[in-house]
Amino acid sequence: MRNPLIVANWKMNGSLEAIDQWVKEFTTFNPLLTEMVVCPPFVYLNDFRTRLLTNALDISVGAQNCSTEEMGAFTGEVSAGMLSDTGCQWVILGHSERRMLYGETNEIVARKAVQAVNAGLKPIVCVGETLEQREAGKTTEVVLSQLNSILDAIGAQELSKGALAYEPVWAIGTGKTATPDQAQAVHEALRVGVESRDSLAASALRILYGGSVKPSNAAKLFACADIDGGLIGGASLKASDFYAIAQASVVPDVIS
Ligand code: PEP
Repeated sequence: MRNPLIVANWKMNGSLEAIDQWVKEFTTFNPLLTEMVVCPPFVYLNDFRTRLLTNALDISVGAQNCSTEEMGAFTGEVSAGMLSDTGCQWVILGHSERRMLYGETNEIVARKAVQAVNAGLKPIVCVGETLEQREAGKTTEVVLSQLNSILDAIGAQELSKGALAYEPVWAIGTGKTATPDQAQAVHEALRVGVESRDSLAASALRILYGGSVKPSNAAKLFACADIDGGLIGGASLKASDFYAIAQASVVPDVIS
């Protein structure tokens, strides 16, 4: 059985004051069995991690991006090795905002995944279709081509040490969520895609759903057979909402 994984993507939000507040609030909640990762902006990784350690919170830290390169003359870039150096264990790659706003192609995302794996980071690889692609009946084709380019670059086993996140572009930050049936169908297709390369890796791989997940819709999504947790944007900025979403991922037989 796969232990649920809930990841917070803070995007370009937050401040030292907001981090203090978030951590302070989180310390008032009971510990959960669910694995949790928070991905703040680069500049706050260390501050956030220090506060987690000081307060003995069992949350890992991840980045939202890394460079395609290992080191050198790449002004403004941050390498996977540097992230690892600061105590980061995870990195989100191929988020649709990066694909759409910064021109990240499947090839670029794959190169970043290689850097992440080489530096010992666990990649959280995002895939997802636009509304236009969904309406054209191309959802499976699009997500499988995004997945296959990652599998070609790092292999199924390395991917299964991290996670895959299905994030329909039309559901990110829009308040529109895929129905549990819509999400489950894509998650199943993705798992079958990984299975065609390596069945053990496919059954170990956590496939997260992302796109307007809130405390009110999380439990129904997480109850689906192939949905192993969530990648949470807006709702993760509020500690109580992020906690409530993580709580919704706890399966009843684990609670008892
Ligand atoms: C995201 O940015 O990965 C995301 C899922 O955002 P939101 O939850 O706000 O839709």
